[in-house]
Amino acid sequence: MSHEPSKLVKNPGQKTISNKASCRLCGEEKALRKSHIIPQSYYRRIKSGNGQLLKVRGDETTPPTLENSDPKDRLLCHDCEQFIDKNYEKEGTQFFKPRSSTIVMPNYIKIKNFKYRIIYLYFLSILWRASESSLPQYKELTLGNIAPLIRQCLINKSLSISPQVRIDHFIKICVMRITEKSGTISDRLIKKCLLDIALEKGEELSEGFLFYFMIDGFLVCYLFEVVNSLELQKAARYLSQLEDRSTIKLQKVDISELSQLSSLFSTVTRKVLEAGPPR
Ligand SMILES: [Zn+2]
Repeated sequence: MSHEPSKLVKNPGQKTISNKASCRLCGEEKALRKSHIIPQSYYRRIKSGNGQLLKVRGDETTPPTLENSDPKDRLLCHDCEQFIDKNYEKEGTQFFKPRSSTIVMPNYIKIKNFKYRIIYLYFLSILWRASESSLPQYKELTLGNIAPLIRQCLINKSLSISPQVRIDHFIKICVMRITEKSGTISDRLIKKCLLDIALEKGEELSEGFLFYFMIDGFLVCYLFEVVNSLELQKAARYLSQLEDRSTIKLQKVDISELSQLSSLFSTVTRKVLEAGPPR
């Protein structure tokens, strides 16, 4: 039996303690499951190689840690967990796995039979869960007025917000494969590193902001650009941006080109050396 969250229920509200029993997706008062913020299968994959999970927070004050737990919070009822799983995660968690539709080139990875709407909403569902969570590490991650729009898109399985406006006009998702050409950091380590969802702001608010996380060697960025004109927003294109096409290219980006990431990685590498060589 399939469950479709009601489209009529009002926005279940912001992250306050009193709302804890109302499901963030359908808005109904129900027993809530401990939902994974980042899908559990990534953790399984990382841990299956007998290695430790390297967890890095995207801020400068929290040191990287080696840990086994994954962030969970009571956000969704059983039916809504199933709904997200069936409609987004089944497809989304396969996205980074090498498949017959994946062709690895020197500078990019080509993915055929790309299901844009599902993959876009899948990545958006991860950011949305983190924004709905009361976990301390996501304290800064608030999406304000955008959160109810994302929720509506997830429920409707659609990118449309109105006949003229789509969610992907103002939230662009870019996915790139992180590499390290000099070989100082092994690809194995890059793939094992889980970078939790973090925020990076421009110096001025008008420069916009982005959230990102990294998993399986891929960096996923959500760009919120403050542009006054919808036409400009629609037209803006970024490196390795997910687009509505059947074949897409995910660019490979050397870690040295991403200053914040490379400084995080040098700290991580040091931690690994302290903890013993990765197997
Ligand atoms: Zn629900």
